[in-house]
Amino acid sequence: MPTLVNFALRERVVARAGSCCEYCLIHQDDVPEAHEIDHLIARKHGGQTVAENLTLACLPCNRAKGADLTTLDPQTQTLVPLFNPRVQIWRDHFALVDAQIIGLTAIGRATVALLRFNAPVRVDNRRWLIEKKRYPPTR
Ligand SMILES: [Zn+2]
Repeated sequence: MPTLVNFALRERVVARAGSCCEYCLIHQDDVPEAHEIDHLIARKHGGQTVAENLTLACLPCNRAKGADLTTLDPQTQTLVPLFNPRVQIWRDHFALVDAQIIGLTAIGRATVALLRFNAPVRVDNRRWLIEKKRYPPTR
């Protein structure tokens, strides 16, 4: 569910993320729906509405994540935490290979699967953005 946060906090989260989804890295300008503020630890699990617990997420990532904190690594079937952009580095866990996002670690693989990074239309869109040099973000 979209999170209501005050404008100042939203602006801080958006600026920190460079207006990109912190999971799949797609830029706000390249999707039709507004990116959402996601609670890393969902409110239902006691997560607070503070910058350290918030991330910017595109609609497909945020819908797929929901209130989840963990999921199964598809390779080992062990329960692992989802990628946390506040404490982890994207390139440590993911790599872009021909418009697909590949998980490099258990956390990466689990997050790729749960958030459906490589759904066909998302890969198609990513490939198109790569051709236009609008993906991945450079910063
Ligand atoms: Zn995303």
